[in-house]
Amino acid sequence: MIDKLACPSCHKKYEVFENIYLCRKCDTKYVQSNGLLNFLPVLQNENGLDKLILENTGYEILAAASSGDLRRADNLIQKIIKPLESQHESQQELAVKNIIGPFEYFYEKHSKHLSENAKANFTTIYNLLRYELECIAGKYDSSFVLPDKIIDNLPRGDYLEVCIGPGNNIKRIMDSGKAHTVTGCDISKRMVERASRFFDNGHSLFFRADANRLPLLDESFDVAIMLNTLDRIPDIRVALRELYRVLRQEGSLVIGNCQPLQYEKFLDNGLRLTYVPKKNRIRNVCEAVEISGCQLKEEIKSVPWHIETVIDNSEDLEVDVVVGIKNGTAKTNRI
Ligand SMILES: [Zn+2]
Repeated sequence: MIDKLACPSCHKKYEVFENIYLCRKCDTKYVQSNGLLNFLPVLQNENGLDKLILENTGYEILAAASSGDLRRADNLIQKIIKPLESQHESQQELAVKNIIGPFEYFYEKHSKHLSENAKANFTTIYNLLRYELECIAGKYDSSFVLPDKIIDNLPRGDYLEVCIGPGNNIKRIMDSGKAHTVTGCDISKRMVERASRFFDNGHSLFFRADANRLPLLDESFDVAIMLNTLDRIPDIRVALRELYRVLRQEGSLVIGNCQPLQYEKFLDNGLRLTYVPKKNRIRNVCEAVEISGCQLKEEIKSVPWHIETVIDNSEDLEVDVVVGIKNGTAKTNRI
């Protein structure tokens, strides 16, 4: 399975030495630690907030987030979350509020003065923090699974799911018998660990990565899946192009998302701090397929989805799902 891994910057195949993944072209390396592959980047520095005096760890994370250092923010987040693992559920929920609270407060107070890059960096960290916390508390907002009528029409072959969450969907794919191999990634450490618990064979590969920088070789998959992320990833157009890049010719792209896309929700209640720049926003799942470069093949509207999260409690939503096909004649330059 590791033969599919490539440098997220130049897409050259990694040279692997025990637990070290080396890109000779970029002279960069990633080290596997505790069995977990982590391809999260140290983002480019974006200054503006790091001069603020930060009083507690929540604010330290925010400083790292706004300065774009994803690794540093991640280290801080992991340090805070670790002790919560052994606590009672009510304490976990309280801790979630205490951690998320400063984020919301900080964002409300400062977002007007942030650059687009800083807001995007902040969103990435917020997603990471939120999914780590939700994973601990045993509640997820990524547990949508594809309906049978979509899976039945997908080809057999190598499957990729980006932003796998707790792995419910990729497990369903594996159970369908369609997948020769499954590969999954997520930004959250715990989601990756949780998803990989379903698989202990040599036909699966799970790692941490940013959706817009996939550490995967070109044309390695027959099916690529992304569910409920269109309104959460700041560089979503890049992420869609990444899915196209790693698909083989005639491969299938599957996009599912709640409709309508809720870009502005965080402005009402401060709970969803996602920031996708206006120029990157997408109207619906069909447009997402078009942006990727694939051609639309199949569309299913209004799949019911019950969502239960730590932060938002529960909601009944509807998801639209589309399947696109990659072929050589599709448009390829729309980002
Ligand atoms: Zn490279």
